Amino acid sequence: MTKIIYPGQTIGIIGGGQLGRMMALAAKEAGFKIAVLEPSMDSPGGQVADVRIVAPYDDEAALEELAEVSDVITYEFENIDYEGLKRLSQMAYVPQGAELVRITQDRVTEKEAIMNAGCPVAPYLVVNTYEELLANIDRISYPCIVKTARGGYDGKGQQLLKSAEDLPLAKGLFSHSQCIVEGFVPFVKEVSVIVQRNGNGESYCQPVGENIHVHHILHETIVPARIKEETSLAAEREAFKIADYINLVGTLAVEMFVLEDGGIVINELAPRPHNSGHYSIEACNVSQFHQHIRAVCGWPLCKPQLWAPSIMVNVLGQHVMPLSNSIAKYPEWSIHLYGKAEAKVNRKMGHVTIMTKNLEETLQQIESSGIWSE
Ligand code: AMP
Repeated sequence: MTKIIYPGQTIGIIGGGQLGRMMALAAKEAGFKIAVLEPSMDSPGGQVADVRIVAPYDDEAALEELAEVSDVITYEFENIDYEGLKRLSQMAYVPQGAELVRITQDRVTEKEAIMNAGCPVAPYLVVNTYEELLANIDRISYPCIVKTARGGYDGKGQQLLKSAEDLPLAKGLFSHSQCIVEGFVPFVKEVSVIVQRNGNGESYCQPVGENIHVHHILHETIVPARIKEETSLAAEREAFKIADYINLVGTLAVEMFVLEDGGIVINELAPRPHNSGHYSIEACNVSQFHQHIRAVCGWPLCKPQLWAPSIMVNVLGQHVMPLSNSIAKYPEWSIHLYGKAEAKVNRKMGHVTIMTKNLEETLQQIESSGIWSE
């Protein structure tokens, strides 16, 4: 049953990373209190929480404590223990349920859900062992990509196979989990749609973003995506189809490939606010974080509207110093840093959002700033 959670009540968040932090900041604007469960002491989310529970995500006593102090519980990442979340949903109010986490934790169940919703995916096979890969590879043509079914992110747990000679490169992946092997999609653009839905079935998409990856890590999101209007509408339709099929409550980020002819193939799902939606904090009337909080608190959703074209650029560990040295030069940039102590190479430390009248000029400005040259 959908409950309404009111300001002054407490939202519990499993996970204390940057997504939890930005959810918490949005919720605090409306006067909610925040409890965060996170094993590390000084986490981005913990820094802005009213109540910090420092313990592993699957710690029974800690989950009970979170249930006790929270009026509603949400999560900021999908790799939480499904059984633990299921138990938690029996003793606390978890409007998103545990099912979506089960589905999106595993590429096999995720692909099945996308297909059952009536949306297109790349041709793929499930392979349990390296020997099964060898025996069945002829059913998928080269180039193809082997991906671990569980636990991969930012290109980790993946191997591109250009020809049969590359097959041995995929052998190690099978020590992690079952894998899928997937045909390479000759996409012209990667886009993502963040769809959000409340318990009454009211749903909206944030404007479609175009994603540019560098070394498999999201580098920039450009909004609106530089695709045809009809492709953008089709992308939103696909996201709504999946959201309705899974009876979404909260947020689902749908990553998609756009083909030369404007066709769309769904790549993967994330059941939470997404890095590619950070632009919405400044560039939209309702950010993905505000809308997420509205959805899990049973509030009516607000129809997203883009104030201006915008570009979000990720700030990784190696970009922190050059960015800090350049702050004075770019007064129009919105700078977000997540409060992480250690700026390790490729670690997501923050992001910059730039609203602009001219996307191409701003892309040029970002490039020539030299901040992201490493
Ligand atoms: P994933 O972890 O599935 O999001 O994959 C990471 C990145 O690898 C994607 O953003 C794409 O750039 C690339 N990629 C993944 N799957 C495919 C595919 N089937 N065809 C082409 N590129 C892919």
